[in-house]
Amino acid sequence: KVLIQTKKLSKSFSNGGNLFHVLKNIDLEIYQGDFTVIMGPSGAGKSTLLYAISGMDTPSLGSICYGDIDITKLNQNELALFRRDNSGFVFQSIYLIDSMSVLDNVLASGLLKNKNKKEAVKKAKETLLAVDIKEEYFNKFPNQLSGGECQRVGIARALVNSPSVVFADEPTGALNSKTGKDVLDTLTEANRLGQTIVMVTHDITSARRANRILYIKDGEIAGECILGPYIPHD
Ligand code: ADP
Ligand code: ADP
Repeated sequence: KVLIQTKKLSKSFSNGGNLFHVLKNIDLEIYQGDFTVIMGPSGAGKSTLLYAISGMDTPSLGSICYGDIDITKLNQNELALFRRDNSGFVFQSIYLIDSMSVLDNVLASGLLKNKNKKEAVKKAKETLLAVDIKEEYFNKFPNQLSGGECQRVGIARALVNSPSVVFADEPTGALNSKTGKDVLDTLTEANRLGQTIVMVTHDITSARRANRILYIKDGEIAGECILGPYIPHD
C-alpha cells in the first residue's frame, strides 16, 4: 500500500542570483510497512528530500500526497498538526532537552497528541522499554546517558505517538559502531512490528537494515533496489 506519493517534487535554492536545483522532478512512492533507505553521495539532496516528504520543509514545486492529503497544500498550522499526528523524526544530532528527564523528553511529545496525562505517561514508559531503555533510566537526564542511549530515547520520542511513518536522518552518524548497531537494532525491531521507516544514510551497514534502497544522485532518483530479509552475522 502506498503511504506517500510525490509527483514532480522539486526544490531550488537561489545562490547569488542563480537558481540551484537540489531536487529535480522527483516521482516516488513510499510503501506502508517498508524500511526505506535513501542513499547517495554527499550533496545529492538526500536530507532535502527527507525534509520535504516529511513536511518539515516545503518544496518549490510538485505534490506530496499522504493518501488524498497533499501536504504541500496545507498552511503552516495545518502542516504542524499533520506532522504531530503522522510523523516522528530521528535526527543525527539527537536534540533531547537537557533540562528534562528521559521520561519527560518522551512524554513531552506524547502529551502533544494524547491529552490524558496518565495514558501519555503509560505510553511513554512502554515506548522507552520497547527501545530497551530500562526503568532506572527514566528519571535520569540526557547528560547521564551514552550517545547511543540518548539516540534510543530520541527514537522513543519519535515512536511515542504511533506515527504512520518515522523519518531518520543519519541516526547513527554521531555514534560509534557498537552503539550505532544498537540504534539500528531498535529501528529494525520497530519496523518488524509494523512501523514504516524512511532513513537517510550513506553507510552501507545501516542501509542493509532496509528492504528497499532509493539511490539519489544530483537531485534525481538514479536507481532503486529491493533487499531480502536482514540477516545478522553476530
Ligand atoms: P545530502 O543530504 O544528500 O548530503 P542535502 O540535501 O543536505 O544533501 O543538500 C543538497 C544540496 O543542497 C547541497 O549542495 C547543499 O549545499 C544545498 N542546500 C541544502 N540546503 C540548502 C539551503 N537551505 N540553502 C541553500 N542550499 C542548500
Ligand atoms: P548531510 O545531509 O550531508 O549530513 P547537511 O544536511 O547538514 O549534511 O548539509 C549538507 C550541506 O548543505 C552542507 O554543505 C551545508 O553547508 C549545506 N546547507 C545546509 N543548510 C543550509 C542552508 N540553510 N544554507 C546554505 N547551505 C546549507
